[in-house]
Amino acid sequence: MKFEDLKIIPSILKALRDENYTEPTSIQAKSIPLILNREDVLGSAQTGTGKTAAFAIPILQHLFNDPQNPQGKRKILSLVVTPTRELAIQIGESFSIYGKYTHVKNTVVFGGVTQGSQTNALWQGVDVLVATPGRLLDLMDQGFISLQDVKYFVLDEADRMLDMGFIHDIRKILAKLPKERQSLFFSATMPQNILNLSQQILINPKKVAVDPAFSTAETIQQYLYTTNRDTKKDLLLHILKDSDLKQVLLFSRTKHGADRITSNLRKKKIECAAIHGDKSQNQRQKALQEFKDGKIRVLVATDIAARGIDIDKLRYVVNYDIPNESETYVHRIGRCGRAREEGISISICEPEENLYIRDIEKLIKQKIQIVNDNPFPQTDKPMNAAEKKEREKEKEKQKQAFFANRNKKNGSQNPNFRRNKR
Ligand code: AMP
Repeated sequence: MKFEDLKIIPSILKALRDENYTEPTSIQAKSIPLILNREDVLGSAQTGTGKTAAFAIPILQHLFNDPQNPQGKRKILSLVVTPTRELAIQIGESFSIYGKYTHVKNTVVFGGVTQGSQTNALWQGVDVLVATPGRLLDLMDQGFISLQDVKYFVLDEADRMLDMGFIHDIRKILAKLPKERQSLFFSATMPQNILNLSQQILINPKKVAVDPAFSTAETIQQYLYTTNRDTKKDLLLHILKDSDLKQVLLFSRTKHGADRITSNLRKKKIECAAIHGDKSQNQRQKALQEFKDGKIRVLVATDIAARGIDIDKLRYVVNYDIPNESETYVHRIGRCGRAREEGISISICEPEENLYIRDIEKLIKQKIQIVNDNPFPQTDKPMNAAEKKEREKEKEKQKQAFFANRNKKNGSQNPNFRRNKR
């Protein structure tokens, strides 16, 4: 199938050609005709399937065919609500890219930054608003945003939205939307609470489903290095000697770990940056942009920080540790090889993580290929219960020493310890 077969207008087709999109993905082929036909849609699809274009293209087409009065200030005709800032920015960029030959204007609002530039853009008038729930409600309360003209409403990543505790915010937003509207609802998973929410939003929806979350994209080649705990960092440097690895998204389970990896890589003059919850929104945005622009070779991310980030044509994902939840592995490697691009995932496994690999292989129903050309092979055995306990104790000691040292430097006590003492 071709995009031309979906009755898409020439100005959007031209933008898609600029992006080298030749064929619609499955979710696009299924959803675009329904949305153009003004049906409500209940879409079961995760990021990486092309779902943003699946809703952005037909909404742009509706807005192109029914333009606003050029004399007056534009009203918000379409609202897209999504859980994270990264996703909001990417959706806004998608509207700009697919709509670059239309007159449709969009803007994005999200929390964690000052609101001035967001309210300025709103003041000038936009057709499409992409928003995270908290900032949206805040700006609505302050009178910067009215939803009374919204005709096309998208709730994106609904399951994650509920996981993040946004249900009350969503209810408040829904209460302000006009009853007469077209609604599109997307979620990676469809448990009962999500279906219940969808019923409050959609009217006679058409259901569209693609790739359930538990299938590993067939285009991703998966490799496994087994090594010892204390040789991981040397093995990583060995892997990065391969100059093919020009742009690598590397996962670390913890923020500390991410910082440690970045500082080790920097010592070896490998350009890298970390994104995690302790970094400001601006730092994260800057790191992501530099990574996309090829200025940074390795982006080190925790699972939460990497959620939903979309790097066009990313080829390499490295798991510096093996997640104990197999679904996390699937989500991690799904960052590369998106929308039919080829992707390669490399996992580095220490003895304690051998068990996790077995669980992952059960979930994905395939064996991950072990790399034998490995100068740091695994020689240690997994710890027994007593050794594990000993290590936990050692870690706790190190943590206490870290805080004690920091408090001495700052001349203050860790508030957690103070609370414990009372
Ligand atoms: P999404 O699921 O919306 O996060 O999209 C995943 C990635 O696929 C993005 O990088 C898009 O630019 C890309 N993409 C979306 N649709 C297509 C298509 N029809 N052909 C090629 N790439 C696409």
